[in-house]
Amino acid sequence: MQFCKYGCGTYVGFLADVKSLDGLKSVPIEVKTSKVHECPKRGWSEYVRCIRCGNEICFHNSETSSITGKKYPFDSPKKRHQCRFFTKSGGDIN
Ligand SMILES: [Zn+2]
Ligand SMILES: [Zn+2]
Repeated sequence: MQFCKYGCGTYVGFLADVKSLDGLKSVPIEVKTSKVHECPKRGWSEYVRCIRCGNEICFHNSETSSITGKKYPFDSPKKRHQCRFFTKSGGDIN
């Protein structure tokens, strides 16, 4: 157990059987909540491809929707991704 390496002051632990999506790294777990620690100080994520349009997008742990709790996609830091395949109704096209 240790404090989060990004300096947010959260106490985290690592479980051997909880790995990041690529299966390589252990992800930090918040000791208090037993949930994966999405650090607000971590900064911007690596670029991934939008599942709808295929453009490169990134995420920020402190930029989340207050409604869904999900992270907003960004084209680049501070520029929100307005996906052209995202319908107004909010439904998925596939
Ligand atoms: Zn942290
Ligand atoms: Zn998109």
